[in-house]
Amino acid sequence: MSSIWVLGAGQLGAMLKQAANPLGLDVKPVDIETDETLPLQADDIVTAEREDWPETAATKQLAAHPNFVNLETFPQLADRLTQKQWIDKLDLATAPWFPVEDDSTAEKAYATLGDRVLMKRRRGGYDGRGQYWLKQAEGTEIPEEWKGQAIAEQAINFDEEVSVVGVRGKNGEKYFYPLTLNLHINGILYASISPLQRLEHLQEQAEGMLGKLMDALDYVGVMAMECFRCGDKLLINELAPRVHNSGHWTQAGASVNQFENHIRAVAGLPLAPAEVKNQSMMVNLIGVDVDYNWLSIKGLELYWYRKEVRPGRKVGHLNACSGDLDQLQSILKSLSSMPAPYDEALTWLAKNLP
Ligand code: ATP
Ligand code: MG
Ligand code: MG
Repeated sequence: MSSIWVLGAGQLGAMLKQAANPLGLDVKPVDIETDETLPLQADDIVTAEREDWPETAATKQLAAHPNFVNLETFPQLADRLTQKQWIDKLDLATAPWFPVEDDSTAEKAYATLGDRVLMKRRRGGYDGRGQYWLKQAEGTEIPEEWKGQAIAEQAINFDEEVSVVGVRGKNGEKYFYPLTLNLHINGILYASISPLQRLEHLQEQAEGMLGKLMDALDYVGVMAMECFRCGDKLLINELAPRVHNSGHWTQAGASVNQFENHIRAVAGLPLAPAEVKNQSMMVNLIGVDVDYNWLSIKGLELYWYRKEVRPGRKVGHLNACSGDLDQLQSILKSLSSMPAPYDEALTWLAKNLP
């Protein structure tokens, strides 16, 4: 059978490969800096674990392949300007915004969006990097190097952050996982919980929004939509045309996880609604070393990405799924020696578990 090449060789590529293994599919993550000539075959398939990439010898080879799934969609969503334009064009709710142009001023931002405005770089930002707050009370101005390079967004006073992960097949069929509740600290995802009965009434709204986007883009594979929940209304924060950190719980908590679903979709294999097993939670490992004592905690699953530990860097995650809520609470207690801000993340999980 043909191979499935993944542009990018980070943890998402590794987990795509892992998920495809039982299906007997050969997934090959590609380090974008490699200067090897890739032995691409005509009937191979190409996908990506990241939405933005520099032109390198490797990415040029992959992008030239006729079976690069969603190739035209990546640049549309990798640039926050065109991503926001897509959301507006489809009449979907999102934080009010405008493009930061050469002649944009902070005064205009305050007049149109309010006294707190978040600038986000159009390309390349992740984990809250590439953000810049404009605060009227502090008289912040727009730095020259942000002009033409960013969008400005209204500060949303949201109740909480949720996301939905969906998959769309080549024939347009779509399936969704239940909404996930997410905790971000300083712009980086620390913890997720799913499913939650109290979010069920928003599921249809979320599926309608993400489904409309995937259909409009004729998208194939897994896409994630991060939202702000403001009362009963969802506002789109951002879209990711790939498997997503807030879907990692599906490795423990669903009969088919997001990685397998993405592979199935791009390979043109059958999709089916995933069975959600039980209550799941996920804790990201950010800037902390691996502790193999975690393996002695009943019900806890460790994913360690084999990356060098640096402050603020995602280096792994922990999953747990159980029908026994006391067990999940006891897992959280077992993790209580983790350094700050894990006290905040673990308390949040304990409070938000049903
Ligand atoms: P990711 O790692 O999810 O790709 P990112 O760097 O692309 O992150 P965003 O998701 O746009 O950035 O923002 C990161 C976080 O910053 C959000 O999850 C949210 O907590 C906060 N944030 C973003 N936009 C706003 C906004 N308009 N108002 C208030 N908070 C916001
Ligand atoms: Mg992002
Ligand atoms: Mg985000």
